Amino acid sequence: MTPTELAKARILVTNDDGVHAPGLDALEEIASELSTDVWIVAPEFNQSGAGHSLSINHPIRARKVNETKFAVEGTPTDCVLFAVKHLLKDRKPAVVLSGVNRGTNLADDVTYSGTIAGAMEGCLLGLPSIAFSQAFTHPHPVKWGTATHFGADVARRALAMDWPRNVFVNVNFPDVVAASVKGIRVTRQGVRAFGSSIVERIDPRGSPYYWNAYSPGEHEVDEEGDISAVRAGYVSVTPLHLDLTHEATRRKLVGAFEKA
Ligand code: MN
Repeated sequence: MTPTELAKARILVTNDDGVHAPGLDALEEIASELSTDVWIVAPEFNQSGAGHSLSINHPIRARKVNETKFAVEGTPTDCVLFAVKHLLKDRKPAVVLSGVNRGTNLADDVTYSGTIAGAMEGCLLGLPSIAFSQAFTHPHPVKWGTATHFGADVARRALAMDWPRNVFVNVNFPDVVAASVKGIRVTRQGVRAFGSSIVERIDPRGSPYYWNAYSPGEHEVDEEGDISAVRAGYVSVTPLHLDLTHEATRRKLVGAFEKA
């Protein structure tokens, strides 16, 4: 898609942090730099960690925020489906952008992430889709200015290429101000040790309850990986694909089952 085509393209913006999240405003700003036809359909409530889940056991209610912005009681996947299959069915979006997430989506995070899932769903529907996440360190404020400074340029350059049908792009901005960003690095999905633990608390009636206490573990050092790039102050751009088949193992398994 050329910048001229993109300028007229209908862009769908979604996220997983919810309709009130500041990162959604950041992505609206990025999308508005790309095109004049921007629609926002975002979850009514925070859906971080929802992954690619789909609401099938309860209805999806949609609230009109303004002419081009809607809040959906559902997941990012529900939002994209509602937008493409219903709200905008007469003129479907040409691009799906998801984010900007508050916090990175790197390495194994991509399978938990509702932000990534928003782009996955766009990809499944045959639309070029990009997920955006902004690194930050608690309790410091999130540097949304880094995302808004680089977002449109990264999107334009990625969208200028033709991608295979089952590919989408994952962008992570580093936790530095825009002027300190070292550049843009094309990366692969990194590997991270599972850093989660279950923390027990006691409620006022004496019953235990539990938190998934997510904390990123140590990562394998891969200079071409997404974690290394973001840690080193680069914008990380990773092409991901929906086909989770591991081809080398598939071929080995074929042999193993032939013998049986
Ligand atoms: Mn989130």
